[in-house]
Amino acid sequence: MKISKAFIPTLKEVPADANIPSHQLMMRAGMMRQLTAGVYSYLPLGLRVITNAMNIVREEMNAIGGQELLLPALNPESLWIQSGRRNIPNFILSIKERDLVLAPTHEEVIGYIASMHIQSYKDLPQTWYQIQTKFRNEPRPRSGVLRGRQFIMKDAYSLDRSWEDLDKSYDAHAEAYKKIFTRCGIKYFIVGASSGAMGGTGSQEFMIESEFGEDTTALCPKCGYAANLEVATSNLPKAKRVEKSEPTKEIHTPNVKTIDQLVDFLKTDQSRFAKSLVYRHNGKPLLILMMGNDQLNESKLTAALGGGDIAPMGAEELLSLTGADGGSIGPVNLRGFRIIADKRLEGMNGLISGANKNDYHIANIDLARDAKVEEYYDLRSIEVGEPCPKCSGALKISNAIELGHIFKLGTKYSDTLNITYLDESGKAQPVIMGSYGIGMERIVACYIEQNHDKDGIIWNKALAPYQIHLIAVNMNSKDVAEVSEKMYGELTKAGIDVLLDDRTNITPGFKFKDADLLGMPFQVIVGDKGLKNGQIEIKRRKTGERIMVKLEDASAEIIKLLAE
Ligand code: ATP
Ligand code: MG
Repeated sequence: MKISKAFIPTLKEVPADANIPSHQLMMRAGMMRQLTAGVYSYLPLGLRVITNAMNIVREEMNAIGGQELLLPALNPESLWIQSGRRNIPNFILSIKERDLVLAPTHEEVIGYIASMHIQSYKDLPQTWYQIQTKFRNEPRPRSGVLRGRQFIMKDAYSLDRSWEDLDKSYDAHAEAYKKIFTRCGIKYFIVGASSGAMGGTGSQEFMIESEFGEDTTALCPKCGYAANLEVATSNLPKAKRVEKSEPTKEIHTPNVKTIDQLVDFLKTDQSRFAKSLVYRHNGKPLLILMMGNDQLNESKLTAALGGGDIAPMGAEELLSLTGADGGSIGPVNLRGFRIIADKRLEGMNGLISGANKNDYHIANIDLARDAKVEEYYDLRSIEVGEPCPKCSGALKISNAIELGHIFKLGTKYSDTLNITYLDESGKAQPVIMGSYGIGMERIVACYIEQNHDKDGIIWNKALAPYQIHLIAVNMNSKDVAEVSEKMYGELTKAGIDVLLDDRTNITPGFKFKDADLLGMPFQVIVGDKGLKNGQIEIKRRKTGERIMVKLEDASAEIIKLLAE
């Protein structure tokens, strides 16, 4: 492609709304433009990169026996009502006048097809995948294409006869993902993850470390334990029971509300406090007890409650229900609330909590004796430095961007959508499913996050929109124009993707800046100075290293460099 004819609208300035390098550079390199919040047009250069990523994904999916299909983005709303996912918050965009929804993922449609056509054990296993546009009602689209309302996903689904076969399908996908991200040149790590809106029995995420990531992960540098904070645990020593459970007593705590104030006022360690958090779950009042200053982890809470509508209770509502404010609520004699607690509080006594009366607390609480705690769950967010659950090394916490997510769905959709097969004895059995997603834009943006410098993008050969950026330094020079055109012809003929900067009205400095911004792996510079000595210059974008080669050897030399 010749730049004089190409549509590559580069920008000198960083767009005001672009806060992270990949967003800034994808805009500046003319790869994409925003249409509206979270919705982007991919311009020719951007599409070339996405296509390269798709081809890698396709090859690795085919290599594990995946069969590509293409499912509709428009789905009947009824299918999502049947699966129970119609009302997941911030998930589905809909077209009301036709009772249609825009699919945010495709377990439902896969299930619909499988329920019609998978009949016997002979029809299994199957792995079906597609690369297709998804829509999600993201409340805060941001970071460019990293979180869009419309994005392209590779989504795959495995259908198996047994849990053991699901394990095999899942492992095959994990291996394929490792190959995909390695081929793309992305440095990733894998964490244990929450299954969230997908449901199922286990999942892992493929992540890159990034200060701009919206996920938080716990990592153990010692043993390699890695988990999303949504599910991460730690090996904190258990808090101790006090020797004797004294009778409860009310204590006056005027204007003392937070745990820190209570610690000061009562001169007691924070682990002696059962902090109360009040919520509504599917409309019903819920009290959650946490130890001291432990932070409630919303993902763990959602998982513990099995989903549903979960929201903090408003202050006025709480007052009218209990006669007390938030800082004075506790589990003893609290009526009308379901009570659950964090595991750290299990079996504890000698605790202090609110008295359900403003300015009063109750001391000497023995939870088993004095409160009706229905269940203890792991509900707390771990903190940096806590001991690793596997080896007790100090946990590190870092932000990360999710590239891909693999799930063992099990029978969740087989149950709701009735996906069964007949086993060897003719008995109907649920199909055991897995689901596996990768965001195409996230591959591109994450690659750029890891591979750029102050001047622009640094493409590798796998993702580069063009392999060679051929710069005709001055097209007004007859020699330069002739040599550039000739090399362009030769290299193109050899099957190499070349971008030729043949613009006439642009200064050399400008051309070099553009070449660094667009970031092709090699720049080939044809200028009068070099030609005088029968030479052209090759610059490696990644290292800035430059070599001079003889004109007659140039094409062969370039082909050699690309074959490295
Ligand atoms: P996140 O936690 O980032 O919201 P998710 O867990 O909802 O993502 P999945 O449902 O697992 O995402 O989707 C599979 C893949 O699709 C993700 O790993 C990610 O690469 C990509 N993806 C998900 N949501 C978006 C989005 N809004 N914009 C771009 N890519 C996305
Ligand atoms: Mg995910």
